[in-house]
Amino acid sequence: MPDLAFIEQALAERQKQQLWRQPPLLDSAQGTQIRCQGREMINFSSNDYLGLAADPRLEAALIAGAQRWGTGSGASHQVCGHQQPHQELEERLADLTGREAALTFSSGYLANLAAVQTLIGKGGEVYQDKLNHASLLDAGLASGARFRRYRHLDSSHLKGLLEKSGSGRRLLVSDAVFSMDGDQAEVAELARLAEASQSWLLLDDAHGLGVLGEEGSGLVGRRFGSDQVHLLTATLGKALGSAGAFIAGDRLVIDYLRQFARQYIYTTAQPAAQACVSLKALDLLAAEPQRRQDLQDNLAFFRHGAKALGLPLLPSQTAIQPLLLGDNARALRWSQALKESGFLVMAIRPPTVPPGTARLRITLTAKHRYDHLALLLEALAELAAEEEANSDVG
Ligand SMILES: *Cc1c(COP(=O)(O)O)cnc(C)c1O
Repeated sequence: MPDLAFIEQALAERQKQQLWRQPPLLDSAQGTQIRCQGREMINFSSNDYLGLAADPRLEAALIAGAQRWGTGSGASHQVCGHQQPHQELEERLADLTGREAALTFSSGYLANLAAVQTLIGKGGEVYQDKLNHASLLDAGLASGARFRRYRHLDSSHLKGLLEKSGSGRRLLVSDAVFSMDGDQAEVAELARLAEASQSWLLLDDAHGLGVLGEEGSGLVGRRFGSDQVHLLTATLGKALGSAGAFIAGDRLVIDYLRQFARQYIYTTAQPAAQACVSLKALDLLAAEPQRRQDLQDNLAFFRHGAKALGLPLLPSQTAIQPLLLGDNARALRWSQALKESGFLVMAIRPPTVPPGTARLRITLTAKHRYDHLALLLEALAELAAEEEANSDVG
């Protein structure tokens, strides 16, 4: 038996720092109203921004897809797992994002590893926003390239770092919409810096795809061409209510990834039936623009209400509306109190966010009703008032 002491110690430490993670167990489908650990709750934690994750038409697409194409793809893409729905999905995603070509993956984590690690390696340099998603940071670290992080949204810091860069290949990487803050990259500025320094630029539009831009093409898609943003990645597991992910770009670049990305070559293709779900979701994205409008309306209602109550929301204009609480124990306490009042709002703590910036990550969807939002605002205001009363006493 190997030594278990380090495991016991790490687990004890996690608990002591109020960093223990326990997934809430759902006994319902995804939605604004869920059943969690035996009770009904209003859900403010999912990334199902358009309310598609349990749409009956997507369910039907999955069933029909499985009947036609089976439940397993049986092999990696290059062997014999690449079926018609995968091919069609790649073409449709390229169209949506205004790119020549796209390559699909079974998760966004894998797509990011593939994009970064295939483009850059030992001898190269990768520059990342400090608050980038873990999958991008991991990819940069694992690539073997020289790894530099610039201060969040600080393009002059990035510019300064680039001026000191060496002669190797350079890759700039950023979330388009930051997953724990909800704020947005200055894509035009990043594109200028990439152009000036002859660097590659990769944007991850996980939280913009489906929600922002013309026809839900994302923050980047149709607004910035592949001459500005050379690599675009996004997951299909958030606004699209499906699963999987993709990298989009010029045909030449995608051909290169298809030949050399180990994360594409050495893994079983996702089931074609899941690609059928994504295809249907793309149909709905085009046919039902009202969903994006409903989300915007909810966002305006929520921010207006929070402002009136003096709640410390971060300055986000997207569906991700974090309420900064700072201390881990405080964030947990608020999350727990909300749970008891029937709201699922997860506390986000380090290492997902920097130390001292624990928060409630409130996510809004197109399917929330104004009364759901008003109830949450009321509960938050009550918690703030209770805390104030306690601190006066103490
Ligand atoms: C969720 C997320 C991913 C990972 O996508 P999955 O398909 O869930 O693996 C990557 N990047 C960002 C910014 C994300 O928020």
